[in-house]
Amino acid sequence: MFILESKTQLEKAIAKARKVKPIVKMIAFGVYAVKGSNGNSYTVKMERIGNEKRISCDCKGGERGLICHHGTAALELHSTLAKHRAATI
Ligand SMILES: [Zn+2]
Repeated sequence: MFILESKTQLEKAIAKARKVKPIVKMIAFGVYAVKGSNGNSYTVKMERIGNEKRISCDCKGGERGLICHHGTAALELHSTLAKHRAATI
């Protein structure tokens, strides 16, 4: 699990996600399956606790609390969906 606070780490992960372009599938709103470059599929979960946005990924980096590109790839889809949801409500 990581908290969106380290901007440099976050930007690096976003840049990697744009380069790798992992396939992101929505399981539920806030829960995504991201296919990694090695063919493994990881589960990314988003939750908001107070003002903190938390993302957890079950890959090795995510388990160690690092911002991984699976998380940021899912976050991009999540942001798009969240905006869409907000617009349709
Ligand atoms: Zn990950």
